[in-house]
Amino acid sequence: MERAPRYEFMRPEEIDAVLKTSPVAYIPWGALEWHGLHNCIGLDALKAHAICLDTAKQTGGVVLPPVYAGFQTMKPYRGFKHTIEISAETIQRLLHEYLEQLTDEGFKVLVVLMGHYGKAHVDAVTQVCEEFSKSHPDVVVLAFPEYLVAVDDGVRGDHAGAYETALMMHYYPETVDLSRLPTGRALTVDEDGIGGDDPREKATAQYGRWLAERIVQRLVERVKEALQRIKA
Ligand SMILES: [Zn+2]
Repeated sequence: MERAPRYEFMRPEEIDAVLKTSPVAYIPWGALEWHGLHNCIGLDALKAHAICLDTAKQTGGVVLPPVYAGFQTMKPYRGFKHTIEISAETIQRLLHEYLEQLTDEGFKVLVVLMGHYGKAHVDAVTQVCEEFSKSHPDVVVLAFPEYLVAVDDGVRGDHAGAYETALMMHYYPETVDLSRLPTGRALTVDEDGIGGDDPREKATAQYGRWLAERIVQRLVERVKEALQRIKA
């Protein structure tokens, strides 16, 4: 079986081969954050990492280890525990160094796939990527929340709702336990730290698979187009 292109598990000559054929580096960016009683706290980063690995199978490239650094998490927002809030300054600095170093290593298409997407977090990440793109015109930086590539297909992100929970049921079924959720009342952001469609009603592995396929297909298109641009 061919090994997944997980950067941390690759030998130098394997990375050199990727750089020659498809110099793409995927950076799955997430958080350690409350995602309801039914999901694990690394959800955002694990979800982004799994999607990057599926996409890289079709585009080539390497997938960096998930980055667990989220700003504007459920802790300052609604007071939820089991959450590690990282400042915008730290995130921006860390991201800038990843972009600099991956460029120095010879990667030409850098994909920052955000699994965590509070607006202030997305803005902080986007700002760094835009500034980096301006000063490095030979590199293409793609940065967006994972669901955004597939909005035309009807895909919408959420927080620990049916969307995120279904993706976890597809990729990491052993981590989801819907029986942990309360019964007999609606789920809310304030009480449960859950937003979006009700996972008790709509989250299934089959739905998660459909979502993953839509997102991966759209992301493949974006990355292939970026590879064309750097070759032109
Ligand atoms: Zn999330």
